[in-house]
Amino acid sequence: MEANINLETMLIKAMHLDDIVFGYQAFGRENLVNKISDKDQINMIKKAIASGKSLAKEIKAKYNFNNLEELSSKLKVKITYSDKTYDQANMLLFAFYNSKNLITINKKAVDTALSFKEMKTLSKDYFSKKTVTNLLIGHEIYHFLENNNKNLYSNTERITLFKIFKWQYRARIHILGEIAAMSFAKELNNVTYNPFILDILLVYGFNKSSASALYQDLILSEERVNSIMEGNDDK
Ligand SMILES: [Zn+2]
Repeated sequence: MEANINLETMLIKAMHLDDIVFGYQAFGRENLVNKISDKDQINMIKKAIASGKSLAKEIKAKYNFNNLEELSSKLKVKITYSDKTYDQANMLLFAFYNSKNLITINKKAVDTALSFKEMKTLSKDYFSKKTVTNLLIGHEIYHFLENNNKNLYSNTERITLFKIFKWQYRARIHILGEIAAMSFAKELNNVTYNPFILDILLVYGFNKSSASALYQDLILSEERVNSIMEGNDDK
């Protein structure tokens, strides 16, 4: 087992990584990852990033809002703050959107993440409670918009899993919605780093070595992405 890496070191390095690197790492969690070539993954990631970004620009131009709580109320999406937020697999989450137009923000997880002593300087400049909360709300607003707009890229992209005569089974690629949601939240809040970074913070609170492992995997993802994009990879 590798030694634990300092939280500040991990975040500073991760803040400078490209969105594609985070997207590629996230793609590893996609059920269909083995059905899609690395090159196709990179293309899909790029499209998801671009789509989230342009949707955020559209929303900024269309609605007048001072903060994301205000935007949410204009979209008729409710926000609640809770101390416990879990997904179906019982994993602790920072935030959650349910299809009934309700966003739940896990206040306790946010407070815990920002109270680490290593976060002292970083939280002031980059990870204030307001910024982190707005990134989480922004991510979940994307899921609301995704639910209501069938034409978004994350809804339209499909891969054909099998064909029988003229009939084919085309599956949605769930992770593209997550990648687009992060890109949307980033653009909506004008932050310079990819909000996927918050995963490192969330995990760190529970298990420092898991956070280090997540970070190391991110660094490996950067190498993989570079080699795929340079065409040194024919997988
Ligand atoms: Zn999400």
